[in-house]
Amino acid sequence: MTFTVITENDESQWNDVTGEAYHFPKRYLDFLKPGTKVIYYKGKLKNKVFKKERLTNEPHYFGVATIGAVNEEFGSAGRKFIAEIRNFERFLDPVPIKIDGQYMESIPERKKSNYWRDGVRPISEEVYIQIVTSAGLYNYSSKEVETSSYGFGEETTSPIYREGEEKTRTTTVYERDRRLRAAAIRHHGVNCAACGFNFGDFYGKYAEGYIQVHHINPLSHLDGPVDVDPKTDLVPLCANCHAVVHYKPQQVLSVTDIKALIAVHGKR
Ligand SMILES: [Zn+2]
Ligand SMILES: [Zn+2]
Repeated sequence: MTFTVITENDESQWNDVTGEAYHFPKRYLDFLKPGTKVIYYKGKLKNKVFKKERLTNEPHYFGVATIGAVNEEFGSAGRKFIAEIRNFERFLDPVPIKIDGQYMESIPERKKSNYWRDGVRPISEEVYIQIVTSAGLYNYSSKEVETSSYGFGEETTSPIYREGEEKTRTTTVYERDRRLRAAAIRHHGVNCAACGFNFGDFYGKYAEGYIQVHHINPLSHLDGPVDVDPKTDLVPLCANCHAVVHYKPQQVLSVTDIKALIAVHGKR
């Protein structure tokens, strides 16, 4: 899998349509093979006319997509290619090129003086993930460490249940959690809210009805029983998606985050 940044300037001779087509010269052919995951980049605002069409005046990344078919465009001077752009998703927030004084892209020493002159720049998967997870599209739901996981029935057996954790929940709370779990399932159903997985469909009758219930804002549990709205605070997730959501305890993913990750990375 290859990853590349593509530049789309406000003004250019290329007639590109964001999220649909991207023109490029032959020297970039290797970086834009079909299937390449691309991040859209825009340089600094030069002409105020375009101010409203941009997320910010500063250089930034603004979307993610996949390269589809690539064809040579004939009838132009020099060899020019056109890539079909698929699965374009615009970021909700612009991602700056530098975070905490560090460029997102790693700039090789030999390219230091003219790195940004290249409109098409191959990047590593790590850089790609860092950019997409910094976009509004991938806002983390919580930067706090989840201090407890919840005994919503089967969820107690999920891999997120950390060892050595105190299990002092009373039966009453457990009963309450079971009711919440049931209410969540009544409202949301038993399909994974992120990937759509259904245990019964995949494993048959034995697993029918199984699903884990994820608490969107677990910190609210800290002060003892609080109002939990099964419609807005709880969401059904399959074991895989649930594990990924909690993979980095400091960065619990929102359902939108994981859906976006699946959209960008998942095999479809
Ligand atoms: Zn899932
Ligand atoms: Zn959870």
